This record gives sequence, C-alpha cells and structure tokens, in this order.
Amino acid sequence: STPGGPKVREEKILVTIRMRPLSRREQAMYDLIAWECADDNTIIYNNPNNDRSGALYVYDRVFDQSCSTQRVYEEGAKDVALSALKGINSTIFAYGQTSSGKTYTMRGITQNAINDIYEHIKENSEREFVIKFSALEIYNETVVDLLSQESGSLRLLDDPEKGTIVEKLSEVLIQDSLHLQQLIRVCEAQRQVGETSLNDKSSRSHQIIRLTVESSFKENSECVKSLFASLNLVDLAGSERAQTNAGGVRLKEGSHINRSLLTLTNVIRKLSLGKRSGHIPYRDSKLTRILQHSLGGNARTAIICTMSPALSHVEQSKNTLSFANSAK
Ligand code: ADP
Ligand code: MG
Repeated sequence: STPGGPKVREEKILVTIRMRPLSRREQAMYDLIAWECADDNTIIYNNPNNDRSGALYVYDRVFDQSCSTQRVYEEGAKDVALSALKGINSTIFAYGQTSSGKTYTMRGITQNAINDIYEHIKENSEREFVIKFSALEIYNETVVDLLSQESGSLRLLDDPEKGTIVEKLSEVLIQDSLHLQQLIRVCEAQRQVGETSLNDKSSRSHQIIRLTVESSFKENSECVKSLFASLNLVDLAGSERAQTNAGGVRLKEGSHINRSLLTLTNVIRKLSLGKRSGHIPYRDSKLTRILQHSLGGNARTAIICTMSPALSHVEQSKNTLSFANSAK
C-alpha cells in the first residue's frame, strides 16, 4: 500500500505476444506462415490451406517478427522490471512452446533490465543500493543452483517471515553491471553443460534469475527508510509440457507433463480472475512455491508469450494464445 492515499488499483497481469520470424529450418521445410500481426493489438489466423480461417485474436500488445527485443522490453516488461526498485516484487516470464523464442527473448529482456536498473541507480545517487544475484534451475521438481556445481539438489524451507526460501542457494553481492553480466554468462554456461547429457532438457526445465534490490535513503535528516524487493526473470519449460490430454486418453505415468508448469498456469489463471479466484495452489509445485511472493498480491507480473508463425506449429500457437487469454 502506498502512503498518502488509497491507491489500491488492482493491476492486471501484463500479457503480451511476441511472434518470431520463420526460422531457417522452417523455411527449409517449406513451412508456411499461418499468422499475421495486423496491428499492435491484433493477430489474424490465416491458414493458407483452409478458407474458414481469418479469426482475430486481440491482446494488450502484439509484437510482430520485426520488433526488436528492446522494443518488447520497453513496452512489455520495463515497468514491471523497474518496480523492484520501488520495493515491489516482480516477475517476468517467457511462455511458449519449445523453439518459439523464450530463451532468446529472456536474454534480451534481462540485458535491458540490467542496463535500466544501473541507469536508475546512477540517477538516484541520494539512495544507496545493494543488489544481490542468485540463479536456479528446476528440472523434474529438483532445484539446482546455477552458480554452484557441487551443491546438488536444494531443499525448500518455509520461513514465517520470508516465505519459501531455497536452502543453501548461493547469493552474490553485485559490484557493478559488468559483474552482473559475468554471473549471467556463468549461469548460461552451467545450463548448457546439463544440455549435452540430456538433449531436450531445456524444454523441460525452468530457469529463474533473481535480483534482490535493497535501497535506503534518508527521508528527513534522521530517519533512514529502506525498500526491499526481488525481480525474477524466468525462462520457462516449453508450454507443450503443460498440456493435459484433452482427447480423454489417459497419459501413462512419467508422461511429458511438467508439474511446475501446469501449476503455474493454474495459478496465473486464478490470479487473473482476481477476487473470485478462491484458493490459489501455490504449494503444488516448486516453481510456484519459489515465486509465491512475486506473483499475485502486491507483486507485478509480465508474461511474454512467444510463438512461431509457422503453419506446422498452429496447434501449439493456438494453445499459447489461449493461455494468454486466460492470463489477462
Ligand atoms: P525456446 O527457448 O523457446 O526453445 P529459443 O529462444 O531457443 O526458443 O529460439 C529458437 C531459435 O529461434 C533460436 O535459434 C533463436 O535464436 C531464434 N529466435 C527466437 N526468437 C527470435 C526472434 N524474435 N528473432 C530472431 N530469431 C529468433
Ligand atoms: Mg529455451
């Protein structure tokens, strides 16, 4: 709550769509483009093999294949990223099927957010900022520290004040933006090491980069006020892992379904319903437990839904758009 007036506006989750260009691989397979971004808000489904197409999909903001990540950041993530500097927990996700552009987008978003945060720190020299970095991966409901190879699987603990904490997760005090860039490269390398042993790991795992920002300043000459919040930058598992079988055929045990992703989509759907939502199942997965205090409540959330324009991916793209609808 903000002092100085009742300003309890219930923020919607900011949901945007980013369409990537047709990939070289898709081009080589003579794949066709099935979607067109008509304007900043509208996507048209244009199946070249089907004259019943032409359906419109409308969103807060649609980024077409020519949009730079900088633009996606400015209009789809910046406000949410910078709210962490004002003491508001925030989370930015990329959601979409494998190969739709999640990692590509989150790398750029992270880069832009870091630049902006340090710009902001320079401009607010009356405040003293302390930034800490941690990074983890969730794979098969196992939490791993991306800054420390030896630590193995980490436990989640419930702290009465801080909520869920990841036991023994390394946290590094950041010196400057260069230091931060270096740590991010370490995490990326670490993530790729795992990749060679299990080649579709990135489609199954979630990566969270967490920056905690603490700032203190003298309100009047005496009293020191401080703000504390975390910014979570999340590269999710491929959204195909959240699809339950709609055909009624029961999937066998050990199916491709990803518990954390499925729970996250349930949580987001419920949060978007606002007060009508009832019980929110944060505790049903590791991902949602870890992010609980940065989702819902006073926290701010941006979801960038990434999609391929290819005809061969139409079913998954429709699923992504329908998730985007339910998250708004
Ligand atoms: P995901 O993480 O969703 O599996 P990636 O981010 O790895 O997908 O993207 C798949 C491929 O498409 C990569 O080669 C990536 O460089 C490329 N790509 C993704 N989005 C874009 C974009 N907006 N513009 C150009 N290339 C992109
Ligand atoms: Mg990826």
